[in-house]
Amino acid sequence: MDKYQHILVAVDLSGEGKVVASRAVELAGRYNAKVSLLHVVEYIPVDLANELVLPQQQEIEEQLVLRAKEHLDSLAAGLKLPAIERRVVNGSTKSEILRCAEELRADLIVIGRHGRHGISRILGSTANAVLHNAPCDVLVVKLGEAG
Ligand code: AMP
Repeated sequence: MDKYQHILVAVDLSGEGKVVASRAVELAGRYNAKVSLLHVVEYIPVDLANELVLPQQQEIEEQLVLRAKEHLDSLAAGLKLPAIERRVVNGSTKSEILRCAEELRADLIVIGRHGRHGISRILGSTANAVLHNAPCDVLVVKLGEAG
């Protein structure tokens, strides 16, 4: 098997991000690969009147980005990899994971997957979308059950 050189880890802000990231770090140690942590802020302001984006909506988005950066900093510190690259981007989670993987020329994406039932399984999860469209290998880490 080819050696992985750059592993992109997609994390949400739940405690499970650590489980996903730890698996990536484990693999990175084996392959001496670089690791990048990615969080996507997918903020969709509800604007039923279809009016312009209000200044406070931008502020909310900025706050969410700031909070995500802090979260990734503390996650990286916990992984004992303070030099790990951290990225927070805005947009659609699925598309941004795929776009960043291309941009960084990642050769492995590590992502979590919840066990799901019913409609959410039919609609598909983030992991499903990434798995079917990724430009590289994908490692899906099984997490706990979700609704
Ligand atoms: P979900 O589809 O929400 O159950 O999330 C499954 C996995 O997708 C998570 O364990 C993360 O690896 C990834 N993920 C979910 N949301 C985000 C996000 N906002 N930014 C980056 N990765 C995410």
